[in-house]
Amino acid sequence: MSYILPTYGRFPVTLVHGEGTRVWDDQGKAYLDFCSGIAVCALGHSPQPLVDAIRKQAATLIHCCNLYHIPQQEELARTIVEDHVRIPGKVFFSNSGAESNDGLIKSARKFGHARPQPDGSPKYEVLSFNQSFHGRTLGGINATGQQKVKEGFDPLLPGFRHLPFNDLNALTAAIRPETVAILLEPVQGEGGVNVATPEFLLGVQALCEKHDLLLLLDEVQAGFGRCGDPMAWREIVPGLEPDGISWAKGMGGGFPIGAFWLSDRLIDGEKPLSSLMGPGSHGTTYGGSPLACAASLAVLREIADRKLIDNVRARAAQISEVVVSWQHPLVTEVRGLGLLIGIGLDVEKMTVPEGKLPAIHLSAKLLENGLLAPPAGPATLRLLPPLNVSESEVSEALEIVRTTLDTLISQP
Ligand SMILES: *Cc1c(COP(=O)(O)O)cnc(C)c1O
Repeated sequence: MSYILPTYGRFPVTLVHGEGTRVWDDQGKAYLDFCSGIAVCALGHSPQPLVDAIRKQAATLIHCCNLYHIPQQEELARTIVEDHVRIPGKVFFSNSGAESNDGLIKSARKFGHARPQPDGSPKYEVLSFNQSFHGRTLGGINATGQQKVKEGFDPLLPGFRHLPFNDLNALTAAIRPETVAILLEPVQGEGGVNVATPEFLLGVQALCEKHDLLLLLDEVQAGFGRCGDPMAWREIVPGLEPDGISWAKGMGGGFPIGAFWLSDRLIDGEKPLSSLMGPGSHGTTYGGSPLACAASLAVLREIADRKLIDNVRARAAQISEVVVSWQHPLVTEVRGLGLLIGIGLDVEKMTVPEGKLPAIHLSAKLLENGLLAPPAGPATLRLLPPLNVSESEVSEALEIVRTTLDTLISQP
């Protein structure tokens, strides 16, 4: 008997301890963790610099709320803007990815009031993409381009429309007077690991400039080193200039924190975009607490100091090379960017029990064999190891994937 609302179909394991890339269950069995709490534990489990930062800040000041100045917030915002985004702007701290996206959506609506349609009525429509995932709040599910997250939660909010990903013609044709923003994941995570093409990102930017729309990037899963460059978009198009970005997941290394950034670029030739979210426009009780910011500062510092970007790129190349070399009958392709990797499955050739989704079945079998790795949609296995995963851990994990796939080949 459980008193937890049954919103999750959980794998049959209880994890109680973790160290680096390994976790242990309550029976003492060890696993390699290539799930990382869904791209959250960027430095692996209980990394010393994060543990130390949390301990120290917890003993000093855990929470004080946003009615007062919080130096850790100032420092984290400064490093995010100056060292990582490197485009002038301002940051708001939240507690999760969905909240960060809600912040971006609210900002877009403010912009729609500041830059209305020719008849004076505000612009409000946010265009996003099929297979996208933007979180489970009401704003998040409405922005998300997947029917399954909306089932039973209608009436839907007005002002959202979804288009085919990486299809510039469809997007060009869809823009209308009420459109205010385009929201996209540079690498779709939950929706199957789909990378935006450089042509698409550049085309979206050109459309935003032409039609006075905001270019909003959801880097909740892809950001802060998961894809190589801390800004995932920069790994695809170095010169892109987004208007807003959301983050969460990896930036706290496991401590809940999210953020969104708005550009300081001028609208109407005088007001910075970031000034639209002024006093009273938005808020949060917990967001950006001294403890959360201290944790995130430790994570971002560690990613930079240890040059984990280099490791991400090297391990990504290793994974792609090894998986391709198998020429495995169940593997259609390796997709992704950095350590946000999707292995496409040929589900027709796979033995899957009645009523089970192939990728979930594979994840369950990998778990039995000592590897945690989540699905991404019905026919993709996702690999999300910590950014500091070692070459030998990658080899070990891939060997489990290969031998497990072998057992799932259906006999002709
Ligand atoms: C996980 C995720 C979210 C939602 O984040 P939560 O912290 O679960 O609210 C939003 N967007 C993307 C791209 C995600 O991967």
